[in-house]
Amino acid sequence: MEYKVSLSKPYITQEDIAVVTEALNSSQLSLGQWTRRFEESFAQSIGTTYAVAVSSGTAALHLSMRALQIAPGDEVITSPFSFIASSNCILYEQGKPVFVDIEEETLGIDPLQVEPVITGRTKAILPVHVFGQACDMDSIMNVANSHSLSVIEDCCEAIQTQFKGKNVGTFGHMSTFGFYPNKQMTTGEGGMLLTNDEQVYRMVKSLGNQGRGTNLEWLVHDQLGYNYRISELTAALGYSQTQKLPEILEKRRELAAFYIEELAGIDAIKLPKSNSDTEYSWFVFHIRVDQKIRDSLLVKLNEKGIQCKAYFYPCIHLQPYYRERFGYQKGMFPIAERVSREVIVLPFFTTMTQEDVYTVKDALVQSLSEL
Ligand SMILES: *Cc1c(COP(=O)(O)O)cnc(C)c1O
Repeated sequence: MEYKVSLSKPYITQEDIAVVTEALNSSQLSLGQWTRRFEESFAQSIGTTYAVAVSSGTAALHLSMRALQIAPGDEVITSPFSFIASSNCILYEQGKPVFVDIEEETLGIDPLQVEPVITGRTKAILPVHVFGQACDMDSIMNVANSHSLSVIEDCCEAIQTQFKGKNVGTFGHMSTFGFYPNKQMTTGEGGMLLTNDEQVYRMVKSLGNQGRGTNLEWLVHDQLGYNYRISELTAALGYSQTQKLPEILEKRRELAAFYIEELAGIDAIKLPKSNSDTEYSWFVFHIRVDQKIRDSLLVKLNEKGIQCKAYFYPCIHLQPYYRERFGYQKGMFPIAERVSREVIVLPFFTTMTQEDVYTVKDALVQSLSEL
């Protein structure tokens, strides 16, 4: 159906189109200057030394597991309240995702729950910064450091989210970003792995390019690798979008503030709330409602032309595949499960207007009155 206000929309300008056209007109469509420029400018915008641009956020996550040499049975501690890719990447290497519950406030893993599940097989912690909020990185890094564990930050929803004044993605040993069209900035499909570790950088560069030696000799393969390369067209778009990040993030901040102002009087909903440690990078605009009314409210809003969704429902451990394979059951991670039954994400995108917000608000008020 045609929605009056859609859930998300990419923000593509004439400048983006001009840059992609320039890349298209060059004779080099892969492994060229645009990939380099995208990597350099993106790493700089977050604050790390090295970057490897890849074909998706999931590819970046998978490469992080390979770089850590996750082997069958190795354990990685992560969040059940996330998009499934942050956990699937562990399974790609026959590792075991060990879930811990989340904090009500950050919606990220609760650092206090991490230590009790650490075993001799634990190799890493993989916190996910969901909805553009930050996990408690101080506490997570403390636990990781005291047990010599690596930390991979999944920043796919948190481009330039700050924790205590520092960008997420600069705390752990590696961090991953994704540029699917619903993210703050997009390349259609695409991703990035960031690190300050030169050895990890070289390893990931090689693994994403069929395991070629770092001197990139044409047909010499040092290890099992993949084709996770990004094309020059995609990288050119990524470069162009990176230049606009300050503008994009500012527009989204203003929009979120307007949304919060407009919806503040509605009793039945809980609005997203910053905590003092986090500077949001707005990915989605989520509200929380009583779980008894969530699903019927979703139906009513969608019927009224407001495209919205439950996020993330069900939790990863309750996904059919995970239940079957690991025997997870309801009740194991009560906060994550409750939050996943309360959240609705409303339309939110860089070019959304105040008029659109009024349309969503009217539909929301009307829908609530019909329940
Ligand atoms: C979008 C997203 C990913 C994966 O990104 P893709 O580019 O779609 O592979 C991973 N983790 C989280 C939390 C995401 O939101």
